[in-house]
Amino acid sequence: MIGWLEKLNAGEILLIDGGTGSELQRRGVAMDRNAWSGPAAYTHKEVLRQIHTDYIRAGAQIITTNTFGTTRFVLEAAGLGDEFRKINKSTIDAAQEGREDADGEHVAIAGSLSCLPPGLNAETYPSKRKEKGDYQELAEFLAESGVDLIALEMMEDNYHSLMAMEAAQDVGLPLWLGVSSRFGPDGKSLVAFDFPDTPFSSVLQSLIPLDPLVVNIMHTEPNVVPSALKNLKQYWTGPVGVYPELGDFSAPNWVFNNLMEPKHFAEHALQWVRNGARLLGGCCGTTPKHIQILKNKMSDLLAARA
Ligand SMILES: [Zn+2]
Repeated sequence: MIGWLEKLNAGEILLIDGGTGSELQRRGVAMDRNAWSGPAAYTHKEVLRQIHTDYIRAGAQIITTNTFGTTRFVLEAAGLGDEFRKINKSTIDAAQEGREDADGEHVAIAGSLSCLPPGLNAETYPSKRKEKGDYQELAEFLAESGVDLIALEMMEDNYHSLMAMEAAQDVGLPLWLGVSSRFGPDGKSLVAFDFPDTPFSSVLQSLIPLDPLVVNIMHTEPNVVPSALKNLKQYWTGPVGVYPELGDFSAPNWVFNNLMEPKHFAEHALQWVRNGARLLGGCCGTTPKHIQILKNKMSDLLAARA
């Protein structure tokens, strides 16, 4: 059985890493206007490798490849379509080498797969056939490169996300479904993060039947997480994770505004564990310090389990 899953089944709490794309930017790597953090490993592989190492040293038991923005259609928007294999190889190498540097042989590597649109513009997706083929290509590349699972990230609609998830299913690795939400205009009903007309529950209803092993509430503000967890409970009884975002996005840059202090982050995490979360980490804006405090507070987190 897979190590991380065995631990999860034994009732342990698992720590995921924090933000990777935003952390690259925080460490001085410029984000691409069309592919965000996608090309970073090509130009700044050593920074990425160090980020992975730092997260493992902080306590992460699962790290995520910086492949959120490396599908071929996204790289094409940045003029880097021909470099698809080189960029993805460098990105996955950075995760594997970062793990070695941290003596983290027990750390699992999650291959990130997202539906980030080309040019960061939802109007510019390619044809259905190409889009699906490009998700398949990246999912297969991740699997061939030896990642332990595929983490679908920011799944938030019933069309693009479905295609990405089906493509990931085809490679036969364990799947994590990562969904993102925010409050709608009424301030209390939940909608998909980037699609205010799409109810969050409809995303769950269309994607959960594709049989993920874990469902993560991710890239969602901490104050939205409790409602999202409550909503998720109506459709999912399996393992749940939470890795929220902190700050804002002003394309293509992460804006590190009013970042929640690690201490407060850990207080929120206690509440998420009380509400059923068993995997914890961070998304954009979070840093190794946010993971380190979760490790430091592990006995409190374990005691908070329902
Ligand atoms: Zn994020």
